[in-house]
Amino acid sequence: MAETPVETPPATPAPVDWPHEAGGALHPGSGSGATDATLWAAGMRFPIEQAPAYANSQVYGYGGFAAPGPGGQCDDRNYSYPWRDNFCESRSWTNGMCPTGKGHQGQDIRPATCEKKVHWAVAAESGRITSIGSYTVTLLGDSGRIYRYLHLDMAGVNALFPTPVSRNVERGQHIGKVSADFGGSATTIHLHFEIKAPVASGGGGGGAVTFVPTYSSLVDSYGRLLNGAA
Ligand SMILES: [Zn+2]
Repeated sequence: MAETPVETPPATPAPVDWPHEAGGALHPGSGSGATDATLWAAGMRFPIEQAPAYANSQVYGYGGFAAPGPGGQCDDRNYSYPWRDNFCESRSWTNGMCPTGKGHQGQDIRPATCEKKVHWAVAAESGRITSIGSYTVTLLGDSGRIYRYLHLDMAGVNALFPTPVSRNVERGQHIGKVSADFGGSATTIHLHFEIKAPVASGGGGGGAVTFVPTYSSLVDSYGRLLNGAA
């Protein structure tokens, strides 16, 4: 008589942590970080298909205009943890969610390696691509949130989405490859990722759809990606 096999319960993905600074803890000397820690895009898909990826500063990292020392953009120190928030890094852009009222508006993320046109950016949620500019792709999610992806390989983006009817996307679908397109200006190889959401009056946005801190949603989604539950 055959023995009844003992059922093994499905394995729960073990929590995976990685070194990351707290939200609002900007690179020293690069500005004052946002104090808002709201998870603005709960459940979103991390916007780069595969780990590792490195959230950090392009301007204050090696190879940037305000680099901490000699080294190019491909320096190993840029391609290592810890992660660092740069949503409120010093810029002249209006940003009501930053202590000074100005800031960077998004988070910069380097892909796994210092190569253009290799690493896929993917849809943070299902929705529709509403605009493809010279270096910006805009995704309107089904939640009503807006995600903007900057510096992708735009020729590749346009080839993927040749007509308006081709622009409905599913969560996790390829949008384009991380590159350094900037409408003719120079930048490093990275994804600049933004989230816009309705912010209640008093939160800095006066009830309007505005740029919101990205870091907490990126930490949340990257943890799930590392756990195999993107
Ligand atoms: Zn940026």
